Amino acid sequence: MTGPGGRSVLVTGGNRGIGRAIAEEFRANGDRVAITYRSGEPPAGFLAVQADVTDAASLDAAFTAIEAEHGPVEVVVANAGITRDTLLLRMSEEDFTSVLDTNLTGAFRVIKRASRGMIRLKKGRVVLISSVVGLYGSPGQINYAASKAGLVGIARSLTRELASRNITANVVAPGFINTEMTAALPEKQQQEYKASIPAGRFAETEEVARVVRWVASDEAAYISGAVIPVDGGLGMGH
Ligand code: NDP
Repeated sequence: MTGPGGRSVLVTGGNRGIGRAIAEEFRANGDRVAITYRSGEPPAGFLAVQADVTDAASLDAAFTAIEAEHGPVEVVVANAGITRDTLLLRMSEEDFTSVLDTNLTGAFRVIKRASRGMIRLKKGRVVLISSVVGLYGSPGQINYAASKAGLVGIARSLTRELASRNITANVVAPGFINTEMTAALPEKQQQEYKASIPAGRFAETEEVARVVRWVASDEAAYISGAVIPVDGGLGMGH
């Protein structure tokens, strides 16, 4: 146990990848952790509820189920995200809007529903999982970068709306993380990416999860509207 825990925590897309590591980190902290998943078998040990972040009604039902089991959500991590990479000239409007709908509007739907309970609780932590790409840019990712940059505007505006109510909103911006996605990259490309990262390596999902846990802790009560990079120095200066 690394902290006092005991809070109702929700991680969207907590069934795999970075979200799962975040969920495990909060569980190790002694929190009551709920995760959302869309299909398949969710990992054991969490309150797993089905929800699609593109569907406000399914999110509302998930929150209602979580509130019944764990009480109002005090920490929400908007982690669910997708990519649909292609260069601008080939990017269809659907490629663009579907990524925005999941990554940006999805986060909006999640925090809108979560904020009700937080305002009533008079405390809360919102953590939005962005990406180094949001502020650094990346060829072939105009849709993804736009969605991830948009999360910064959400966190900062939310801070201006709710910081006085003991609610913080921050962005965590991972760089290259060892997940199925990065493992699938050709070895040569992985080496090229690593050469451009000052730390000279990709990170483990736990390295992101620990930062999320900390920014949601009492220790970080005076941090809000921040963009916290977890990228080995890749995006320095933005
Ligand atoms: P994965 O592809 O491994 O997992 C994505 C998660 O999001 C899954 O749980 C997935 O659910 C969920 N999800 C996707 N669309 C929806 C939706 N419409 N409704 C609900 N859940 C949805 O991704 P990672 O773990 O790699 O990434 C997690 C977050 O971190 C993302 O926001 C990503 O952009 C960001 N990130 C990742 C980096 C990396 O190197 N991997 C780097 C920087 C940022 P399901 O299992 O049902 O598909």
